Amino acid sequence: MTVFSSMVADGHEQVCFFHDPATGLRAIIAIHSTARGPGVGGVRIRHYRDEAEALTDVLRLSEAMSYKAACAGLACGGAKAVVMGPFPADRVAGMHALAGFVEHVGGRYIATEDMGMSESDIARLNDVTRFAVGRSLADGGSGDPSPHTAQGVINGMRSALRAAGMSDDFNGLKVAVQGCGSVGLGVVERLRAGGAVVLASDISETAIERARAAGAEIVANDDILAADVDVLAPCGIGAVLSEQSIPTIRARVIAGAANNQLATDADAARLAERGIVYAPDFVINAGGVINVADEIDPAGYDGQRVAARVAGIEATLDDIFAEAARTGQTSAATALALARSRIVA
Ligand code: NAD
Repeated sequence: MTVFSSMVADGHEQVCFFHDPATGLRAIIAIHSTARGPGVGGVRIRHYRDEAEALTDVLRLSEAMSYKAACAGLACGGAKAVVMGPFPADRVAGMHALAGFVEHVGGRYIATEDMGMSESDIARLNDVTRFAVGRSLADGGSGDPSPHTAQGVINGMRSALRAAGMSDDFNGLKVAVQGCGSVGLGVVERLRAGGAVVLASDISETAIERARAAGAEIVANDDILAADVDVLAPCGIGAVLSEQSIPTIRARVIAGAANNQLATDADAARLAERGIVYAPDFVINAGGVINVADEIDPAGYDGQRVAARVAGIEATLDDIFAEAARTGQTSAATALALARSRIVA
């Protein structure tokens, strides 16, 4: 793979490699699109096998951020940064070096949290650059994105239920939630408040206990995808919808928060062939980016505007499902086409 061939294939505008000699920090910032505004996306700190793996990750993730932001109607584009772990032992010096990289691209990239980053790391970036968002509420930021993501999943689930010809009333609905972390637990709580019967699984005992306390019935993680339910909500890890798992799924609707739920593009067609309504992950899980991107609004963060935009996920999915039914395309392909047309426009 050459960098240019990948950039051309996926439409990336800019890819920057950085090295800070003082701390040894190595990072790549990929800006997919700034057509709708600055590229917003998290910083992911991971132990990559090699540079090629890091590059693949940052290109894929930044492209996905463009589509997520466009479907959410945000005036921003898509970008992402990856840091080749391990992070420098002097965390503050490492964050300041990283902030220097972010500053270098001059506002075309707005950094937020992703794997390996915390709210306090964002505050360290803000020591050096204003192009980092996701500050705590106490610091005048947008706070934890998870409740907004969970609410978006709930809103999107209603749309998916209607697209499947089912009632969008949660009372008595049976939902299986895989992964009960920050977002999954919020989904469980909201479903239970609406009267749904919730089956839940996780690989963490702490998460399981929290889900049980929220009123979920706990099932083995190996059994959750094939549970006899109306809705499956993958809220843990990606790639759970695969050639192997799809034939076993009994839910008629899939609506969850996890990123990259489809193992391959072909899995969207596999779901459609089985008559399963799939809410594209990058549309239904946009609540978090809607929340954090609001920090860059010139008038400052506005919780009411965020709530309205998160509510709007339902109408966006209504449009996507209607268009998919009209054209015979999968919901995933339809959502991608919508995102691309908004970026071009
Ligand atoms: P989290 O780390 O708080 O929770 C993830 C949960 O999934 C944990 O409880 C973990 O134990 C569990 N888990 C991990 N591997 C699992 C497996 N193999 N089977 C079952 N459970 C497993 O993360 P989160 O913030 O709740 O995010 C959940 C998913 O939603 C992720 O895919 C994330 O990328 C995506 N997402 C999150 C947000 C957000 O606002 N936090 C926004 C968009 C997308």
